[in-house]
Amino acid sequence: MATWQCVKNCGACCYLEPKERPELDQYLSPEELKHYLSLVGPDGWCLNYDRSARECRIYDERPRFCRVEADVFVELYDIEAEELNDFAIDCCVQHIEDMYGPESPEMNRFNQAVGVEAN
Ligand code: SF4
Ligand code: SF4
Repeated sequence: MATWQCVKNCGACCYLEPKERPELDQYLSPEELKHYLSLVGPDGWCLNYDRSARECRIYDERPRFCRVEADVFVELYDIEAEELNDFAIDCCVQHIEDMYGPESPEMNRFNQAVGVEAN
């Protein structure tokens, strides 16, 4: 079975451009939406994302909406704990495909790490 994990040198989900995420207001509270929008840099990437190191500068203090954790997913997306794994994999695949493309090294690394068969 494929098991979700975050892979290093990806960062696809740290591209926060709101136009790419039209349903933000459906799962973030008004305060969280304000926080989210405050993090969007002029190029659409999160201000906390170090693009050369490809990592979060505030990883341990990252906001709730950045965390792939069972209780967060239940609260934000109404996803039950047993659905978390598949839902998280689908989210990553979508972000990585949008950002880097379906044939990208990032997609291959994610598929390999998670154990998803490549298309
Ligand atoms: S898209 Fe997935 S694998 Fe890539 S940085 Fe985000 S959580 Fe990690
Ligand atoms: S706070 Fe960190 S994990 Fe969250 S989007 Fe920004 S760089 Fe990514």
